[in-house]
Amino acid sequence: MCIFCKIVKGEIPNQTILEDDNFLAFNDINPAKKIHVLIIPKEHYDSFDVVPPKIMASMTEFIHKVAAKLEIRKSGYRLITNIGSDGGQEVSHLHFHLLGGESVGRLVR
Ligand code: C5P
Repeated sequence: MCIFCKIVKGEIPNQTILEDDNFLAFNDINPAKKIHVLIIPKEHYDSFDVVPPKIMASMTEFIHKVAAKLEIRKSGYRLITNIGSDGGQEVSHLHFHLLGGESVGRLVR
């Protein structure tokens, strides 16, 4: 079982920010910014590349709720999902990195 599936099952502890029946948002163990939250579907999908669009629609709603709870919708934030080896993905369970709480700078020039 993958490490994020173990987190979903409660076998590995996490600092939960928000949870519902289908999604979980928790603090990254190695934060890159003041706010660094990982947002995952509870059901296992290897990456964004294989997630059904219907799941992404409800995940989008959930991500909005996470950003609202963190009170960063006005100040802004960055969402990243790494896909596969060239994309730098280490954990093969779809996750979005939500980064904020400070300026995260420019990523692409
Ligand atoms: O996108 P990528 O797969 O590289 O990111 C994996 C992320 O999962 C890393 O930021 C890492 O710190 C985080 N992680 C975590 N808790 C774990 C294992 C990994 O927050 N138990």
